[in-house]
Amino acid sequence: MEDNKAYIKKTLLLWGTLLVISILLGYSIYNAFSSRIYANVFESMNNNLRFAESSYGVFMNQMKMGMLQASVETSIKELITEKDGAALEDLLKKWGEHRDYVDEWYVVGEDGNIISSAGKGKGLLIKTSGKTRIQGIVEEALSSGTVITGTELIPIGSRGELTLAQYVIVPVMENEKDVIGGIITLMNLDGDDNIIGKIMNDTGMHSIISAKDRIIASSLESGLYRLNKGSSLSEDIRKEVLEKDTSFVKRLEIFRGNREDKDSYFGAFRAIKDIEGSIIGVQGIIHNDPLAETTLGQIRDFTVIAVILLAAVFSIIVWSYIKTRKVLLKEKQFSNRLSSIKRFSDLVRQASNEDEVYEILFDVLKKKSGITQVVVAKKEYNDKQLTVFKAMDTEKIQSIKNRMTIEENCWAVKSGKEFINNGSNNDFDCKDFYSESVSYICLPIILGGIVSGVIQIQSDRKNYFSNDLIEEIKVYIDNIAPVISNIRLLESLNNMASIDTLTKAYNRRYLEKYLEEQIKISKENNLHLSIIMIDIDFFKRFNDTYGHDAGDYVLMYFADTLKFNVRETDVVSRYGGEEFIVVLPRTNHRGAYRVAEKLRKKVEEMSLTAISNENPPKITCSLGISVYPLHGNNIDKLIQSADKALYKAKNSGRNRTCIFGDDNEREGTQERHDDIKNTI
Ligand code: GH3
Ligand code: MG
Ligand code: MG
Repeated sequence: MEDNKAYIKKTLLLWGTLLVISILLGYSIYNAFSSRIYANVFESMNNNLRFAESSYGVFMNQMKMGMLQASVETSIKELITEKDGAALEDLLKKWGEHRDYVDEWYVVGEDGNIISSAGKGKGLLIKTSGKTRIQGIVEEALSSGTVITGTELIPIGSRGELTLAQYVIVPVMENEKDVIGGIITLMNLDGDDNIIGKIMNDTGMHSIISAKDRIIASSLESGLYRLNKGSSLSEDIRKEVLEKDTSFVKRLEIFRGNREDKDSYFGAFRAIKDIEGSIIGVQGIIHNDPLAETTLGQIRDFTVIAVILLAAVFSIIVWSYIKTRKVLLKEKQFSNRLSSIKRFSDLVRQASNEDEVYEILFDVLKKKSGITQVVVAKKEYNDKQLTVFKAMDTEKIQSIKNRMTIEENCWAVKSGKEFINNGSNNDFDCKDFYSESVSYICLPIILGGIVSGVIQIQSDRKNYFSNDLIEEIKVYIDNIAPVISNIRLLESLNNMASIDTLTKAYNRRYLEKYLEEQIKISKENNLHLSIIMIDIDFFKRFNDTYGHDAGDYVLMYFADTLKFNVRETDVVSRYGGEEFIVVLPRTNHRGAYRVAEKLRKKVEEMSLTAISNENPPKITCSLGISVYPLHGNNIDKLIQSADKALYKAKNSGRNRTCIFGDDNEREGTQERHDDIKNTI
């Protein structure tokens, strides 16, 4: 039972582990596939970004070339030289109208200070006294004579809010080497109308630009979730891009206007750096890729199906494992049971008495946890009573020992079938042998087709006796029944061979065997042994007077009287007719004489009222004693001597005791026996 619990626990653990493994496996498959798709999406978005940037670069070049090669070049030079701000402004305004992507224009002099500005912006670059906010970079461009482009966060407005601006500084030269000033174009990236945004829109992609973690430009339509201008970047984008400077792809769920209507997008994000290489913001493109979405969905479905299939396969494996184990276990139990039954029947067959048989049965039943008591009640062949004869738990047997029930009350004995009470059948409760147990079964012991007893097995558990267990126990009982039959048969055969049927005293055959053994023991231990030969006086006459049946009755009574008045170690045997011999081991002539006299008196006292109530006859007997080794050192001599002593007793008047060799002067014999060790 305990084994099974541990096994179930182990199996469930295995099952659980396999399920977790399959889910993890599915999850990693899904991850592997989806990150591959993410990588593809990012690559394609990156290409778009690069395309957007190069378009932007192409535009810048065109603008520069346009400016330098324009017919107005001379006039710019003149204007720079003359520092005619108003004229410059007009000119710049004119350019500005033709340039969609440019917000502001500045003309700076040789020193980098602003001479004039134009455009729709608010003069973002203007700091104070004609200097720009990117003065250092402007001066570098002018002194090196190279075009410098860059992105700069520039504070705008009185609250110092930042905006991201991209600038191009083009030095203006005279004689192709002397820098006389420069033109700065500025694109404000803050807003939907900025250049990147426009290019992104042109390429069909949404984009965002953030200054640090605040989105300052977004090409997404208004109402899109969390990617509007002014909102903050999410934590993961901030971490991955702003802090770690990695390219980052993420799936976004973007709501269109209301929460029911949401779309799934991919967002690819990377850092914007200034010319020194420090990160100043995040650039991102957001792309709705239906193909990738579908593929991802398919992968997800595939993964779910794979996980379910895997789980199913694992389940089948575990299930068949359980099944196989069950079958194997059953087989093992069966073969175990067979071998224990075999062992049991081997043992039982070696038992030499009934007690031993039941002890072996108890040993087997004791091993089954749950069995608390086994009671065996015996029924003699024509006896109507059942008597408890043996119990497994000997401590508890006292309360039921000698308890009896009549056969009519025992259902198992009455019907010859087992009776089962698994703790719920109270109507037929056994009142006699059943103690405080919860469940019990009673199995009849059937010997030679006759119910000759009952075995009750008790348990402290409810519903303890399963069909399997009952069958097993029945096999044990079936095995003991023939053995008990044999033992009983043997016992009765033995009895028949050594017991006289009328008087139940030992017969002559037994006496001879026994006496021989006792003589041997006495010889080895140098001990006395006495025998008393007893013959009823005038028994022929008694028979003639009262009849043979009355004679038989007297013989039985006489034998019982002898048996009752000797020690347990003394053997009373019927030597023949109405002659008996009592063997008294370790007893000399004095002891034997005492016993003989006692017997003689007890016989005299026998009251034979059963024969005649008013005038009961009197019975006497004569007794002859012989002692080993004095009167014979073998069985024949000893019996002969006793017979002679008896003869003497008869001749000297009957109803008396004579010792062999003792010429009616018992005292005289005493000296002759003094040399023998007195053992009484
Ligand atoms: P005593 O011994 O005193 O000399 O006289 P007795 O009449 O007893 O003589 P004896 O011992 O020779 O006779 C034995 C008688 O015992 C013979 C027989 O009638 C009787 N007897 C022997 N065996 C049985 C028996 O099994 N049943 C009965 N009823 N009588 C028996
Ligand atoms: Mg006789
Ligand atoms: Mg006689």
